[in-house]
Amino acid sequence: MKFFGFTKNNLLLIISLLLFTLPTEAQRAKYVFFFIGDGMGLAQVATTEAMLAARHNGEGFENLNFSEFPITGIITTHAANRLVTGSAAAGTALASGHKTNINRIGMNGDATEPLNSIAYYAKARGKKVGIISSVSIDHATPASFYAHRPDRNDYYDISQDLAASNFDFFGGGGFAKPNGGGDKKPSSWELAQKAGYTITRTRAQFDTLSPAAGKALAVAPRLGSSRAMPYAIDQTADDITLSAFVEKAIQMLDNERGFFIMCEEGKIDWACHSNDAVAMAYNIEALAQAIEPALKFYQQHPDETLIVVTADHETGGLALGYALTRYDSYLQMLTAQKVSMERFAAIADSTFAIPGHNHPDTAMALVLKYYKLGSENGIQLTDREYKLLQDAYLVTTQQMKIDDKDEMRLRYGHEHALAATATRILNNKAGLAWTTWSHTASSVPVYAIGASAESFSGVYDNTDVPKKIAQAMGIKMEERKSREENKLIIIDK
Ligand SMILES: [Zn+2]
Repeated sequence: MKFFGFTKNNLLLIISLLLFTLPTEAQRAKYVFFFIGDGMGLAQVATTEAMLAARHNGEGFENLNFSEFPITGIITTHAANRLVTGSAAAGTALASGHKTNINRIGMNGDATEPLNSIAYYAKARGKKVGIISSVSIDHATPASFYAHRPDRNDYYDISQDLAASNFDFFGGGGFAKPNGGGDKKPSSWELAQKAGYTITRTRAQFDTLSPAAGKALAVAPRLGSSRAMPYAIDQTADDITLSAFVEKAIQMLDNERGFFIMCEEGKIDWACHSNDAVAMAYNIEALAQAIEPALKFYQQHPDETLIVVTADHETGGLALGYALTRYDSYLQMLTAQKVSMERFAAIADSTFAIPGHNHPDTAMALVLKYYKLGSENGIQLTDREYKLLQDAYLVTTQQMKIDDKDEMRLRYGHEHALAATATRILNNKAGLAWTTWSHTASSVPVYAIGASAESFSGVYDNTDVPKKIAQAMGIKMEERKSREENKLIIIDK
């Protein structure tokens, strides 16, 4: 029997091919979670997993939840004008699918054209959008998803774009420079409020925040330096965790047309800039905990949910191996560190300011208390390490000056000399080494689970990530060539 020239078998074959090749509505990612561990390379993940095993008296590695995702990939991270990227160029690549120059936020290399992010495409398709970060909400990574500015440091201008985005939920840190517009202009807070955002700044307000509030900006009740959430290792029960922000976002955004949620763990990068492996590992654990509510949601909607976890670049040039420990590792030593290096620096400075406490013995007592370095029962110091700490104390309290700029940079970077030295000694003794206080050009991992997750397998570029997410969502991210075509997607208010 023939139908329009096809045999019945041919026709069945064609129909079945069509069924298998065209993604059906059910296979599409209606709900997308996009997690970015800022500065999180493979060594950062492996160190955290080795530390978890060491903390539980085991050996080897204890998997984080996202390490068990069925699909993994590797991405290159370079910027358009530099091999070693920065968070703005890398964030723009992960958000818009375009390579750009260092410091650009959602704009092309010469800062003449705005670039639409995947979040705008999702919003234009009627999905709700949430943007979360553990650092300030106008920082480079979150800003890349909603702002279009030539320079990541234009914090006030970026906050204007946040207010104008009409995205549904923002959560995490505050504004870095809310009064950057000067006295006459409204503050970043007023801009958001005028644009219709409900702002929560206390735990009680956060707890009662519900979809009835409409668009919302939920800020952590306690903010640390640069208006970021405190390091995970320094958080207390009063702090709102990154995980709680993701949980709240799901509650606020769940609707029949779906959602897109980007959640950045930004302090992994800050810890790596300080070469502080312990603070880094706690923040990677915080990222894994933030993925838990997404996994729970995925289990309820397995055919329609996509979770992607990746990084914008590696920070610090971290290695699980050090010249003086040769082939041995002592990661259980890292459990000795009690606070982040940043917090230790603040404690040391305030202690030295107390009359009679500006003394080398005080410095050694602090190093012993917070790092267990330098006692018979704690971790013993070599003469070389002891001398490094003594020098660092003298540099910190300005009793000694190291004139060689390269020597200063190698030893302390831009960090507090005593805190940097204590942290470096502990890291090295554990068998970890860092090559830089900056980013590196190493490739970073991608982990995926859920609808169309298989497309994230392989080796590709960071600009491919949002394109793959768009494809999974059934959205075409158009290549626009002319300035006229390149107009931003305007979201109906
Ligand atoms: Zn970054």
